[in-house]
Amino acid sequence: MRKTILLVCLLVSFGALSGCAENDTIKGSENSTNRSDKTYHWRMVTTWPKNLPGLGVAPVRMAEMISTMSNGRLNITVYGAGELVPAMGVFDAVSLGNVELGHGAAYYWKGKLPAASFFTAVPFGLTAQEMNGWLLHGGGMALWEELYAPFNLIPLAGGNTGVQMAGWFNKEINSLEDLQGLKMRIPGLGGEVFQKAGGTAVNIPGGEIYTSLQTGTIDATEWVGPYNDLAFGLHQVAKYYYYPGWQEPGPTLEIIVNAEAMNSLPNDLQEIVRVASRAMNDDMLAEFTTRNNAALEELVNKHHVQLRRLPDDVLAKLKVISAEVVEGIAEDDELAQRIYQSYDRYRTQVMSYHEISERAYINARAAQPLAQ
Ligand code: CA
Repeated sequence: MRKTILLVCLLVSFGALSGCAENDTIKGSENSTNRSDKTYHWRMVTTWPKNLPGLGVAPVRMAEMISTMSNGRLNITVYGAGELVPAMGVFDAVSLGNVELGHGAAYYWKGKLPAASFFTAVPFGLTAQEMNGWLLHGGGMALWEELYAPFNLIPLAGGNTGVQMAGWFNKEINSLEDLQGLKMRIPGLGGEVFQKAGGTAVNIPGGEIYTSLQTGTIDATEWVGPYNDLAFGLHQVAKYYYYPGWQEPGPTLEIIVNAEAMNSLPNDLQEIVRVASRAMNDDMLAEFTTRNNAALEELVNKHHVQLRRLPDDVLAKLKVISAEVVEGIAEDDELAQRIYQSYDRYRTQVMSYHEISERAYINARAAQPLAQ
């Protein structure tokens, strides 16, 4: 019966007549077949030097993954900072549709969107594991999408470095007084806290840090952690390497997709972009977790870097200032208020459980090392 109707519809169609619902179905299927055969060529701009270990390699791997998963239907050319647009021009380039994709960090755009910092890192905030929990299962992702929607952008989690290092200094930090007047490269909310603590915070792209420190444009810097910091050679221009990275306890990096470009893709390619971003998000953390310790050993044993822990009272004071700074963002507007409340509620809840799970376990493991 169905075959008969189809045949009639086809005949009617060939006769240039219209009005057959079955024929519409056939047309729809042809359209979607044609659409899924189409090949797309996208460009991705990034805030890192291309192929920088960790941060710069991840988007290249993502592009390769997407090309393979789509069987060559979606091909992405990756550009390092400054090749098409400057590092800090990535947001606007994707927002305006000049390119389809970007890879960077949301807190770079805090001048435009103060609440964006919540989606990268909050001083004394969530770890990598907790950020993934909040974003993917705790309501964070929907808020991030809402924040970026007016800019024609779809955000996706695109990597995490794990807990970073507090940074590189050419003098010891024994009290908060030692931060007074210090000019440091430290972006995001960490920079605002540093500023309130008496220092001068500047944000410069990763690729310019070494020269800035070498020439004395800045006195100190934070970047990422041993794996990335060794790649930049920061041990050649600073003597003391401080931990822990109170300012970035588990920063999430971002993939931003131009909304119109994303919506122009067939559903399967859209899902491939999302799944590749998820894979990239997991893989980067795994890579930093694996490589940081070996890089730290090289920095300390081969390059004789002086490893130092920030004193407890310095950390305690920075934590008090951080709470003020973070609360201050909530006053920006109604959406910032909701983002702050969601983040803060999640942080409180996850901290309680992690006291008796992650921290209790790590403490127990440290008390009974396998080597003994
Ligand atoms: Ca950093």
